[in-house]
Amino acid sequence: MSTPETPATAAKPAAAKPAVKPAPKAPAKDIEKDASMLKQKAMMAAHYDRLSDAPETGAKVAATFVPGNLNELIMCFDLLNNLPEVNAIQSGLRRQSGAFVLEAEKLGHSEDVCTYVKSDIGMMAKGQIGPNGRRLPDPDVLLLSYTGCFTFMKWFELLREQYKCETIMLHTPYMGDGKITENMVQYMVKQLKEEVIPKLERISGVKFDIDRLREYLKRSSKAEDDLVWVLQSAKNKPAPIDAYFGGIYYIGPIFGAFRGTQDAVDYYRFLRSEVEERVKAGQGPVTPDGDMGKEKYRLVVEGPPNYTNFRQFWKMFYDEGAVVVASSYTKVGGVYDFGFRHDPDKPLETLAEYCLGVYTNRSLPMRVDMLSNYVREYEADGLLINSIKSCNSFSAGQLLIMREVEKRTGKPGAFIETDLVDPRYFSAANVKNRLESYFQMIEQKRAGARAAA
Ligand code: SF4
Repeated sequence: MSTPETPATAAKPAAAKPAVKPAPKAPAKDIEKDASMLKQKAMMAAHYDRLSDAPETGAKVAATFVPGNLNELIMCFDLLNNLPEVNAIQSGLRRQSGAFVLEAEKLGHSEDVCTYVKSDIGMMAKGQIGPNGRRLPDPDVLLLSYTGCFTFMKWFELLREQYKCETIMLHTPYMGDGKITENMVQYMVKQLKEEVIPKLERISGVKFDIDRLREYLKRSSKAEDDLVWVLQSAKNKPAPIDAYFGGIYYIGPIFGAFRGTQDAVDYYRFLRSEVEERVKAGQGPVTPDGDMGKEKYRLVVEGPPNYTNFRQFWKMFYDEGAVVVASSYTKVGGVYDFGFRHDPDKPLETLAEYCLGVYTNRSLPMRVDMLSNYVREYEADGLLINSIKSCNSFSAGQLLIMREVEKRTGKPGAFIETDLVDPRYFSAANVKNRLESYFQMIEQKRAGARAAA
């Protein structure tokens, strides 16, 4: 088959024209990144190298998920933390996930299955080459802190079949009534004491030391303070950060393998000082094309971003002067802005409370409260929902959430649909159209409000 770039059998012109020298290609424009983004990238790269080096260093590996991850506990057993969702995200950003998803579908996984799962299964089937271009190690243990999404359980069942390794499940009760009770916490502490810790001791060969856990928890709490400060800096006008697209970088270390480490403490201190400077200078967020320019729209966003067209997606916002001032996605690996911090004085209870409170474990009414408050507190123009085609867990109820937030705040909502890491479900024209209509709707609301005043 011929393509415009490679004509296969094009007829020769009768009189050959002098060859036209192709114009030299302009050098690809560098993507602008904050210093903190570069630091974060280096940390992630170092972690992937630690994972790929595991067969040589002898380090053992725990596969686990972002929401409810027990990184401090994992580190107590000298285990490395490997997060399949993060691998899928990295594959999406590098445009490798499309091939992995197709590979998983060839193996029989349906189109409706979460594409994080299919990217992971496809990556395994194609030799387990990770985002660093090197083989990722097989896990020694699958540690599932089950927090709200049933897919997590089915996903690890598939991995258990593949790796034939030990599986540990920490069951987190769903926050259906909107509160954490003492019984819920004690139910989880009992599992930690009787199941999780003894099994991790056996698998790793390392004795559990609760004081070591306390030290990690102290560091978590420090990093969490700075992360919250950074996320809440978006209450400023202009917002110095984008709390969705930029937010993805900011949550990377704390939602991944770094919570509880000195690296995380240093990173969040550094990030905070960088953002403090932007606030002082009255600057908006840094985008891949440099400073965003005038802030015109402030949005709250619910749902994960699309990763296969991440930059194109983000550009649709900053080209219009739209900044995301708060998002629920930056809470899936921990909700810290309502005051929760890991507490070294009650180490096991705090791990339980952390798991119970993550966004994926919060009921629909809690999500509505949270998003409505964000719209009010961050003085947003409205709520945008990016509904993910293959995330059945989160897509259910999102229209209802949107209507309810609109009703409570009086601000307009909008709904777009994309996918996480399946490039087939990112329709740039559709998304752009919807966003442009949404921005017009906001303008009309503003004009109506001015006229009424
Ligand atoms: S929450 Fe959605 S994206 Fe995450 S594992 Fe569950 S289905 Fe997949």
